[in-house]
Amino acid sequence: MSKRKTDIITEDVRLDNDKIIELKNNNEQFFIINGRRKTYHILTYGCQMNEHDSEKISGMLTSIGYEETTDDKSADLVIFNTCLIRENAELRVFGKLGEVKGLKRKNPDMLVAVCGCMMQRQETREKVLKKFSFVDIIFGTNTIHELPMLIYNVEINKRKSVEIVDNTESIYENMPKQRKFKHKALVNITYGCNNFCTYCVVPYVRGREKSREPNEIIQEIKALSEDGCKEVTLLGQNVNSYGSNLEKKVTFAELLYEINKIEGIERIRFMTSHPKDLTDDLIKAIKECDKVCKHVHLPVQAGSNNILSRMNRKYTKEHYLNLVEKLKKAVPDIAITTDIIVGFPGETEEDFLETIDIVKKVQYDSAFTFLYSVREGTEAAKMENQVPDEVKHERFDKLLDVLYPIVLERNQQCIGKVFPVLVESAENDKLTGRTEHFRLVHFKGSNALIGEIVNVRITNVKTFHMEGEFVSLL
Ligand code: SF4
Repeated sequence: MSKRKTDIITEDVRLDNDKIIELKNNNEQFFIINGRRKTYHILTYGCQMNEHDSEKISGMLTSIGYEETTDDKSADLVIFNTCLIRENAELRVFGKLGEVKGLKRKNPDMLVAVCGCMMQRQETREKVLKKFSFVDIIFGTNTIHELPMLIYNVEINKRKSVEIVDNTESIYENMPKQRKFKHKALVNITYGCNNFCTYCVVPYVRGREKSREPNEIIQEIKALSEDGCKEVTLLGQNVNSYGSNLEKKVTFAELLYEINKIEGIERIRFMTSHPKDLTDDLIKAIKECDKVCKHVHLPVQAGSNNILSRMNRKYTKEHYLNLVEKLKKAVPDIAITTDIIVGFPGETEEDFLETIDIVKKVQYDSAFTFLYSVREGTEAAKMENQVPDEVKHERFDKLLDVLYPIVLERNQQCIGKVFPVLVESAENDKLTGRTEHFRLVHFKGSNALIGEIVNVRITNVKTFHMEGEFVSLL
């Protein structure tokens, strides 16, 4: 896998060339003849970056006359937006592609496209082309803007379409987007990553870190606010290093102060924070910006300094604990969540106990826990002393035995208290939303409250969610 340079292209993506107009006209004809629009279904795997890319894919497809369906079996176009970060996500994609093969046999007109991080890796791409030869379209993370042309090639030119940008990356940021939620939005602030954690494929598949210009970000968020959006989540592989490669240097803390001024936006979240770049200025900004949520997702990955060094994380357990102390001092009721990898190559029982120790010391509000899985092309894949599977599973179970009671206890501290909750969805007569600490809350209420921030009293808690009762509008 090659190391690449990234360019951000700010002009609008053009959807008015002759071929795309021909494609749009064809889709319009399809609508007139069949009384329905062509449909698409996107299966999104992995992180919020991918979720956001899926919104861009939706926007592009809507612009050329497609309509979304929740049913992958009847869709005219099925798109797999894939993730390469863990073996499990990759296996799920291959499993699902196997299922879609049967559908495609019954309905040869159905188009199948695969995109996302898996397709940035040549070996995986070749595997898909060979093993799942029915796939019509393949594109990479930075060629979403090419999708209409790729569909044109298949539909009009009747040829398989593959479009990956391999040597330099040009990221088009002004694509039409179809947001999943009106009241909340994902906003990229950086693309790519420079950190080369030894277990991670992201720097190879998403390229070098590149920050967007602050005014581009501010304009996008202002437009979102005018469109009724209340909460933005700023996205980057490492948001804390935002701005370091801009011509006119801007820090992430400075960006937060600017976004905090935008009228209409009520909540600001960000993901992901690398501990090595979490500065005192940023902690001050989290404290001082009233719209910045009292929640930091701070991936620790491991508690042993030996393993942290082998992971190339560039911080120590002591440094991380010191950051947690500073955060808790600055914002006393802050929620801290994390990512933890169990069974990294060379992890001894003593190393693992350091992870258990840090979990106990930090008292996390929640954590994503993972079994280490070999990712070809990374440094860790070449390391000796891979931990046997049964040892990994045993440690994983031990970790959850320690973690879950802590998470439950943190939730129990919320019982009887009232929290503002941004209502996100409804199912039957239950509404679901999140507190600013990112806790999931279910309560009874009217669907009219979706998109509103309301006060909810917590009445009961579980490990992964809380239950409450509506108190008042905010
Ligand atoms: S910071 Fe490390 S784990 Fe996160 S995307 Fe970059 S290389 Fe991967």
